[in-house]
Amino acid sequence: MSRLLDALLSTEPLQRVRLAQAGLALLLLGSGVAAMAYFVLIGAARAVPVAWWAGITFAGMLGFFGLIRSGWSRRSREPSLTVPQMVFALSSAAVAYTLVGAGRGAVFPMVMVILMFGMFVASPAQIRWISLYTVLLFGGVMLTLALANPAVYPPVIEAGHFLLVATMVPGVAILAGRLARLRQRSRQQRAELAQALSRLREHTTRDELTGLINRRHMQALMDQEHQRCVRSGRTFCLAVLDIDNFKPVNEAHGYAVGDAVLRAVAQEAQRHVRVSDTLARWGGEEFVLMLSDTRAALARGGLERLHQRVGALRILHGADALGVTLSGGLAEHHAGETVAQTLERALSALQGAKAQGRDRVMVAP
Ligand code: GH3
Ligand code: MG
Ligand code: MG
Repeated sequence: MSRLLDALLSTEPLQRVRLAQAGLALLLLGSGVAAMAYFVLIGAARAVPVAWWAGITFAGMLGFFGLIRSGWSRRSREPSLTVPQMVFALSSAAVAYTLVGAGRGAVFPMVMVILMFGMFVASPAQIRWISLYTVLLFGGVMLTLALANPAVYPPVIEAGHFLLVATMVPGVAILAGRLARLRQRSRQQRAELAQALSRLREHTTRDELTGLINRRHMQALMDQEHQRCVRSGRTFCLAVLDIDNFKPVNEAHGYAVGDAVLRAVAQEAQRHVRVSDTLARWGGEEFVLMLSDTRAALARGGLERLHQRVGALRILHGADALGVTLSGGLAEHHAGETVAQTLERALSALQGAKAQGRDRVMVAP
């Protein structure tokens, strides 16, 4: 049973909702046809026109179902085809009104049900147009019937029917419009919430000054990489980078200029990091680079290049062009080691680079 429904309604959630809606319309049409058959049975309507009406209406609604199921309706701005389906169904109801003679009052609840379909998809403006169409269509049909065959369709009765349609249909339109606005508002609120959530996520994972990943998030990413390597048997490298003699930059030019230099260094470094690698601001003027799925021999080349690029960077400040150099320590993660231990070895290598005169990269043994 569920396999049959999957085949009929597809498994994609949005399509499924659309097709379930069109399927429900088909089922309701089935009960409309049964009502018409009843009027044929009691002699209020003639069998042949009713059979034609049922066949054409059924084929039309089945056609809409096919357009949705085949994916064709995705090209439309409104892939559920609700508005065209409503216009078709309302027109068909107007035809039914002409076929059942004394039983024509039964068409009114059908019209109401058709209008309710619009509550889920149509915009308030579309609903207004559809209700105007309904009032004009039924008004025209009633007027024509009253003029052409006043014996079966007495003008006073038709006037009463028209009054009913002309008041109830706009009533439904007002309710549907309110629901549509409610839908719009909740959709907007959902979008705002999603936006706030993504801002919040940005806020908790990024460093405000440089835009790089912050220390906390980096810790989580390193742990993830560690887990991955434990499973796959591969390894990764960690590098600690520290700006050389940064305190004098602050002292000579001020903290704000120091910040600008920090930002420029971070941006330049980020530009020369592979997409699979991760650069984070670890604190102050220190950065940590994680090179995933890489051995030290290979990582060293990348780190040297990054070191060179940052060293060549010039940051304009008034008449000055400021430049800074980096020292770096690189360590390959050894099996059985914790992330903290690898980081500790990278820091030792960094201290070695500083001790040997700065502006260089050293690899931990
Ligand atoms: P070296 O690392 O080469 O030994 O010398 P250094 O002067 O860079 O070393 P130290 O770690 O003693 O100084 C780091 C300085 O970085 C201290 C502080 O003035 C500066 N600093 C840290 N964080 C920031 C920041 O967010 N903005 C600015 N402008 N400066 C910062
Ligand atoms: Mg420093
Ligand atoms: Mg430092």
